[in-house]
Amino acid sequence: MTTKTIEKRSLPGASMGTERTLTVHRYGPASTGSKAYLQAGLHADEAPGYLVMHHLIDLFDTADDAGAIQGEIVLVPVANPIGASQWRDEVLRGRFDDFDNTNFNRRHADITAAVAERVKDTLTDFPDRNKIAIRRAMGAEIEAMTPADESAQLKHLLLSLSYDSDIVLDLHCDYQAITHVYMGTPLWPDASDLSAQMGAHATLLAKTSGDNPYDEACSRIWWELADKFPEKPIPCACLAATVELRGISDVTHALASNDAQNIFFFLQRRGLIAGEAPAIPQLKSDATPLRGMGHIKATAPGVVVFVKRPGELVKKGDLIAEIVNPLQADSNQRITNVQSDIEGILISVNVDRFARPGRILAKVAGKEPLRGKGDLLLTS
Ligand SMILES: [Zn+2]
Repeated sequence: MTTKTIEKRSLPGASMGTERTLTVHRYGPASTGSKAYLQAGLHADEAPGYLVMHHLIDLFDTADDAGAIQGEIVLVPVANPIGASQWRDEVLRGRFDDFDNTNFNRRHADITAAVAERVKDTLTDFPDRNKIAIRRAMGAEIEAMTPADESAQLKHLLLSLSYDSDIVLDLHCDYQAITHVYMGTPLWPDASDLSAQMGAHATLLAKTSGDNPYDEACSRIWWELADKFPEKPIPCACLAATVELRGISDVTHALASNDAQNIFFFLQRRGLIAGEAPAIPQLKSDATPLRGMGHIKATAPGVVVFVKRPGELVKKGDLIAEIVNPLQADSNQRITNVQSDIEGILISVNVDRFARPGRILAKVAGKEPLRGKGDLLLTS
């Protein structure tokens, strides 16, 4: 007997006659206490994740037919129907709320303080009991929220579907990039099997990356409660990660079916699907601090000619790109060099080839922290 269900959840309309729906696929028993949640397209302009969802659904359907789904698996293949409708000038935008210009992957709910208040007198000396109590309090807190507009409703609905998961994978992509992963520092190295299995060239770690992206809305509460109640054992009960599936144009069946298979193996190894996954591949590179990410900026206007490709190691002072401005009279003055100011892995570059002073052109994952607190994600 198969377990799969497909449910449509509606968002209250922002305008008359515009009710949008979120489609939720569920597999496996909800009673085992083991749950994984996967979504794609929170940034609705990022195509690779949708195609991975297509291949994952085929893999899960086959596993479900064989009775092999052992935990609860929830899939939201198109997580942002608001963004997915944002066609403008023949481009699907999908990244910022039209009403307040907020990035759809920012300002997700931070319920740590409210949940701490709810559980402070009931925490025990047993981590499993604390996990159950905290999840119950999270559920109650989320239930009590009254989101004010359509985007807030969407964020609320996504969190309500995932907050009690052991694993949350939010599928994204960068501009022109190699595969990389963002997750909370306390999750490493326990979650290194995810980065290794996905073939990630870099994993960026932060305890707080700023402005509350979706993965942190699910995971950060655990280490923050552990810090708040140091005398009580509180586990890091949610492995939430943002998985950047290369660049926006890296959309092929070969890549996506391989990514889907890797996610399947990862979930299999974590016990959500029966059967034995192959040995974990070698981790391509150790995690680095998100504070160590170098944002390489343009210092002049012009067109950008990249001389390094994502995935290459760069040293401090290495030429990454030239900015060419044909209006300068002298040939040498037409070219402005863009150099890396740190050593690390070049993980992404812009897709278009235009520069203005201050624009971020490339990102380099370095080992040494560069910055203090604040929004560490910037444009990602
Ligand atoms: Zn994204």
